Amino acid sequence: MKAVEVSRLNYTYPSGRVVLSDISFSLEENRTLGLIGPNGAGKTTLLLSLCGLMEFTGTVSVFGEPMTLKNARQVRARIGFVFQNPDDQLFMPTVREDIAFGLKELGCTAEEVTTRVRQSLSAVGLEGFEDRSAHHCSFGEKRKITLAAALARRSDLLIFDEPTRELDPGGRREFMGMMREIKATKIIATHDLDLVLELCTDVLVINGGQIIARGGPKDLLSNRDLMISNRLEVPYRLRDT
Ligand code: ADP
Repeated sequence: MKAVEVSRLNYTYPSGRVVLSDISFSLEENRTLGLIGPNGAGKTTLLLSLCGLMEFTGTVSVFGEPMTLKNARQVRARIGFVFQNPDDQLFMPTVREDIAFGLKELGCTAEEVTTRVRQSLSAVGLEGFEDRSAHHCSFGEKRKITLAAALARRSDLLIFDEPTRELDPGGRREFMGMMREIKATKIIATHDLDLVLELCTDVLVINGGQIIARGGPKDLLSNRDLMISNRLEVPYRLRDT
């Protein structure tokens, strides 16, 4: 089954700026798609469109269900989103409330919420963090809390925007290990091309709001001309020298 199917997606900001033009692609269930391209390519806008958070034209279907203004909330229930900046996502007084946010809407009972909060914190190695405030946590811990919040939704599709940005090398490795363990379809927008090599099964290169190339990570990332012309770089491990 296709987890995501996008056809002729276009998005123009109210200012008139065209950010996505004629984007079409699909992703099979349980695959991991790396979305790469220079700053301003439209990656974040595309991710937000997949969650029904932008008023695009064209069609986006998630697990066979076409997203409309009416059912966006329902379709979004199957999606977990890890934002680029944890502070955009963590704003409640306690970690418990940050993770519980939205679970009631998914139909969870109070008991179920408590269980999911505990289990998801445990999955990211933050047992007992329920009563803390995310504001007093380190950046690495905040990143893990945003992942716990996404996991608590038990989503079939997880979307990550720059998940390893600003993590120290140890935190990055740890976080990537957690991402790898998650059994779901994943879409990851990132400049971390080593992450793409390690975690992704499919890659889309986008630039100027258009799809420039799609294919397997090794094929695309070893293509020097493709990388350079899109302000990317061939990762060290794929270089000849
Ligand atoms: P990426 O995630 O690839 O860096 P974005 O999706 O964030 O790209 O941005 C794509 C383009 O949309 C950029 O050129 C950016 O300046 C523009 N953009 C982002 N937000 C707005 C906005 N609110 N109004 C107008 N243009 C915007």
